Amino acid sequence: MKIFRFKGGFHPAGHKELSAGRMVKDLPLLPRYTVMLRQNVGAPPQVCVKKGDHVEKGSCIATAAGILSVPLHSPVSGTVGDMVTVPGPNGTAVEALEIFSAPAEEQKWDGTLAPIDEWRDTSAAILKKRILDAGITGMGGAAFPTHVKLSPPPEKVLDTLILNGAECEPFLTSDDTLMRLHARAVLTGGAIAAKILGITEIIVGIEENKNEAVSAMEQAAWGIPGVNIAVVPLPVKYPQGGEKQLIYALTGRKVVLGTLPMDVGCAVLNVGSCYAIWDAVLNGHPLVERITTVTGTPVVSPGNYRIPIGASLSAVLENAGGIRERSNVGKIIFGGPMMGFAQYSLEVPVSKNTSGILLLERTEAAQFTGGPCLCCGKCVEHCPMQLPVSTLSKACENERYDLAQKNHVLACLECGVCSSVCPARRPNVQHFRKAKTELKEIQWKEKNKKI
Ligand code: SF4
Ligand code: SF4
Repeated sequence: MKIFRFKGGFHPAGHKELSAGRMVKDLPLLPRYTVMLRQNVGAPPQVCVKKGDHVEKGSCIATAAGILSVPLHSPVSGTVGDMVTVPGPNGTAVEALEIFSAPAEEQKWDGTLAPIDEWRDTSAAILKKRILDAGITGMGGAAFPTHVKLSPPPEKVLDTLILNGAECEPFLTSDDTLMRLHARAVLTGGAIAAKILGITEIIVGIEENKNEAVSAMEQAAWGIPGVNIAVVPLPVKYPQGGEKQLIYALTGRKVVLGTLPMDVGCAVLNVGSCYAIWDAVLNGHPLVERITTVTGTPVVSPGNYRIPIGASLSAVLENAGGIRERSNVGKIIFGGPMMGFAQYSLEVPVSKNTSGILLLERTEAAQFTGGPCLCCGKCVEHCPMQLPVSTLSKACENERYDLAQKNHVLACLECGVCSSVCPARRPNVQHFRKAKTELKEIQWKEKNKKI
């Protein structure tokens, strides 16, 4: 299969060996979980239980509140506590529901969602409803509801489903682990998604540094009837797993500014979402736990952990053996070092899109100085979206968001490449995140003024 090379990008050190190639470890039952209400891009779901109610693992605790909303479920059997405020992964305080665990011997799944064994003979509408009822969202980035991704408007003709197993972020190995250990489940989830979309072509993109995952997925692909599955090893280059870059690499189709993957006939699902689809359809399990990479040189037992949604960062670190003696932790990040978010509290809970928890020594953590631009052009050369990065950076620094918009700041992937290659250590991506938030705010105000 021909592979297309996208422009820009770079080759950061992988550091995957810290956590790769091992079995998944389970986090022991914790006494308390705080389940954040907003775990999807749309409106947060509405709580449908009250303090003192008994719930089982997988019981619905909040129902979807709009098209882009998905329900939330209890990560354990136990008792509903208070609505509390917790630090969210993006630094702002957010609402969360407390669940106090029942003893280990009383833990059991809520059986409301019955397994659908004969999914091939089940209608696309019923399968899609199952994905919504199970609260499945994208499990790496913006937590976009998966049932919406699988609902393109009728005028859009899709012919290819791409499964994203690139995992190009340094340090992270949770997708690699899923593909190595659960290849058949991941591909079955992909086949269910393809059935919903009414297509038969599936391409799995995996960076070629994941040999075992590639082999496991190739072998499992033989056992999935009704779809044509191509497993494609891709060159190791960041951001190979960016949606636009992945579609181009695998099909040669360009998702240009202002368009979506469906405009070029593609849908893209993360392999974690495919595994969650399999679990929801074949086992009747809502999305209440996920495999997360816990890594970094300060961590005593780095690896991949099965973590219930709502477990606190402090509990996860404690169960990963804690922090090495004499470590001087400079940064804790949710996600990877390129696109993740720095954390300032150990009480932030794990959510559906927590792909990794990364600890960096003070000497490893990038320090941005905000010094003057040297006009070296490196950021422009490496930007995978070919944006005029230095011009944009200066516009944002001067709060000229009108200029930033003219220079397409909204097309920025926030991939972090331009900050990593900058010799002046300018916080380019931080500027662009702020500009995008400001522009959205301005647009929202203008829209509401007209109403
Ligand atoms: S963060 Fe944005 S501007 Fe910087 S390299 Fe990535 S896409 Fe380009
Ligand atoms: S890499 Fe940094 S110093 Fe060089 S042009 Fe871009 S912003 Fe300026």
